[in-house]
This record gives sequence, structure tokens and C-alpha cells, in this order.
Amino acid sequence: MDNLNSFIGKNVMDMDKFLKQSQSRSIKVKHMSDTSDLKPKNFDTWKEFWEDAKKGEMTFPNIEEKCACCNKPTDPKDFVGAHIKDSNGNMYIYPICNSCNSKYGKGKAESPEFSVSKEKCVDFKCSDAVIKKE
Ligand SMILES: [Zn+2]
Repeated sequence: MDNLNSFIGKNVMDMDKFLKQSQSRSIKVKHMSDTSDLKPKNFDTWKEFWEDAKKGEMTFPNIEEKCACCNKPTDPKDFVGAHIKDSNGNMYIYPICNSCNSKYGKGKAESPEFSVSKEKCVDFKCSDAVIKKE
């Protein structure tokens, strides 16, 4: 019986540790508003900006994946590089479905808070962007 208790106790602890680890790999973010006029300084799209930063490390979605925001299975061609920020104001580019990316912004719906994988975040600074001239 003692063995069984310690066995169960050990596994509960491992599960706790596992949950803590998986939580630390994801961060809570929101969509940034007012970014639709920004274009990357050195690239055509934010997807290319993301791909360049992650070169040799990971790829932009190339099979159907769930969008981190709406959780819907999304075709690779519908993913775009979206501007997101965490609660500390750090800004990132992240693969998000086009529908979510265009849904929230100035004068549009308030962005929900959602979780993203820290590893898939690419740092974004204002100096990486220029204002698009229409
Ligand atoms: Zn989405």
C-alpha cells in the first residue's frame, strides 16, 4: 500500500511539473490594433519577416493547423504574420489566420486574450516597420 501511495504521489508531482513546464512555454497575448498601415521595412509581408527570423529553426504553417486565436483548423495559405503583444507590452509577429488578423483593430472588435507558443514568437520592434503609403 505504501508503494502504491508513493507511486501515485510521484505521478501527481510529475503531472504538476509537466503542467508548469507546458505553461511556461506559452504566453498570453492580444492582437495589436493600429497595425494595418505597417509594412515590413525589408520584406514584402510579415510572413516573410517571420520566416527570415526563424530560418533553419521552424517553418510557417505548411499543413493544416489550428489558429492560436480562434482555434479553428486553418489552411496554410490562410495564415498570415499577425502583430501581437503580451501584457508587458512586448510585441511579436505570430502565424494567425487571416480572418482573426483582420477582425480586431482600430474601431473593430476588442481583441480577446489568447495563448501562443513562446517559441513561435518573433520579436517585433517599431523600427522593423514603415508606414504603408496608399
Ligand atoms: Zn483565427
